[in-house]
Amino acid sequence: MFDLSGKVAVVTGGSRGIGRACAKSLAARGAHVVITYVGGEQAAAQTVADIEAAGGKAEAERFDVADMTAAETAIAEVAKRLGRLDILVANAGISIDGLLLRLKEEDLDRTLAVNLKGAIACAKAAIKPMMRTKAGRIVFLSSVVGEMGNAGQTSYAASKAGLIGAAKSLAREYASRQITVNCVTPGYIETDMTGDLNEAQRQAMLTGVPLGRPGTADEVAAAVTFLASPEAAYVTGHVLRVNGGMLI
Ligand code: NAD
Repeated sequence: MFDLSGKVAVVTGGSRGIGRACAKSLAARGAHVVITYVGGEQAAAQTVADIEAAGGKAEAERFDVADMTAAETAIAEVAKRLGRLDILVANAGISIDGLLLRLKEEDLDRTLAVNLKGAIACAKAAIKPMMRTKAGRIVFLSSVVGEMGNAGQTSYAASKAGLIGAAKSLAREYASRQITVNCVTPGYIETDMTGDLNEAQRQAMLTGVPLGRPGTADEVAAAVTFLASPEAAYVTGHVLRVNGGMLI
């Protein structure tokens, strides 16, 4: 099950958190994984070293997903150099939270540019080599917040809801080429992104989680790995929730 031998995968934002867990999981099943990052060169190198130490193949590429030309150039170069591209996990994301009345234009622009435009730019670049092999798996990391909204997260929720619309459109557009496009919507997952929450905020968040605990990056990676696998060949345009029951 979930054999990815001989496949090439790109995981954006794979230097830490959910992206790192996805990269490790895909590599453990045989994929050659290219992780991308924008800062944190050391963290990226550590992810590569961890994968190699476990017997897998990995490398790191630095580019900002919000720069469409840079994203397209880097992904095209990976596909050319490694001869193929089978899997894209568009995971890179940021959250700049706050109430609408305090929203700064540059924060809105940056959130949409990284989370939404960045994922679409990477998908555009990945689709081309996937069309040549008439196969491919694209997984967008959306969020439960994109499905249910959250006070103080208007820009972030809009970007994550946008990914669901984008995935469903791409799923229809490229189904004839056997390229599947799906979303995973994590709930409250313990990573650096949620590390700023204080204990009161953490407890408040957990009251909305029937399973009574935060999720782990590995639990999200398991869902991503399924969608990236040959076993998920008949699953496209789907939104797979990994949220502990936060939204049912
Ligand atoms: P994280 O902050 O730990 O990691 C984010 C990664 O994205 C980092 O590797 C970072 O370098 C990369 N990144 C950020 N901006 C980038 C850019 N412009 N170009 C390239 N890379 C960039 O976050 P995480 O918690 O691991 O989240 C991963 C994804 O899952 C994000 O899209 C996030 O929105 C989503 N998500 C997280 C949670 C959660 O509770 N942690 C919940 C739902 C969805």
